[in-house]
Amino acid sequence: MLKVIRNRLEQGCRTTAYPKKPVQLYSRFRGLPTINQDCDPAIVRQCAELCPQEAILVEEKKIDLGRCTFCGECAQVGDGAFVQFSSSFELAAANRQDLITDGSLPDLAAHSSAHFKKLFGRSLQLRQVSAGGCNACEADINVLNTPFFDLSRFGIDFVASPRHADGIHVTGPITRNMKTALLATYAAVPSPKVVIASGCCAISGGPFYGSKEIIGDLASILPVDLFIPGCPPHPLTTLHALLAFFKA
Ligand code: SF4
Ligand code: SF4
Repeated sequence: MLKVIRNRLEQGCRTTAYPKKPVQLYSRFRGLPTINQDCDPAIVRQCAELCPQEAILVEEKKIDLGRCTFCGECAQVGDGAFVQFSSSFELAAANRQDLITDGSLPDLAAHSSAHFKKLFGRSLQLRQVSAGGCNACEADINVLNTPFFDLSRFGIDFVASPRHADGIHVTGPITRNMKTALLATYAAVPSPKVVIASGCCAISGGPFYGSKEIIGDLASILPVDLFIPGCPPHPLTTLHALLAFFKA
């Protein structure tokens, strides 16, 4: 027992101080893109041709973060002449259109609903629905319950029953086989309720877009309140989204 106590004292508190203190992610992390609006259109076209997600809008010189898997291919063209990726992990948006970005995003806290903050600011219970996800999104949500992130200290928990939940947190491209279960889960959540689309699969179909076996766009079947991009979203991206949207 003494060994355990000594070990705990030696380790100290391992929980991140975020959001009170900023977190610097490792240099290889690809977060919010920095886009060069003065880039030669030929290079932008080259980036768009390389992009496996058709996420680059050539005329507008923008990237659709709802489609992007952050694979980094476009940043290789011309040594990052059009796009480079910053380490900013704060990527979520309340409106789908805001994810089509020139490198800036609106302040999520300012765009979230005061109604939701009043209802769920002190306690938010979510039911996670994996609608055909590859399990990476789901694993990175699970990580939020580890001591480092300690999500429940903010009054946010994932619960087993949709009847105990305030909303659903959806991952995956919504396979046709999962559509009925997803809609039944949504129906079982008492109103008022929130819907969160997490990961490019739930936002746009992700790497599976174009497949006949998926719906590919959660917003086409349910009213989505919060979009969290990434493939998968970094746990800090999700943490920022939940705190900014429901608490800030
Ligand atoms: S990082 Fe995003 S925009 Fe760039 S090539 Fe990959 S999917 Fe396309
Ligand atoms: S968004 Fe990426 S990580 Fe998440 S389920 Fe889809 S393919 Fe997997």
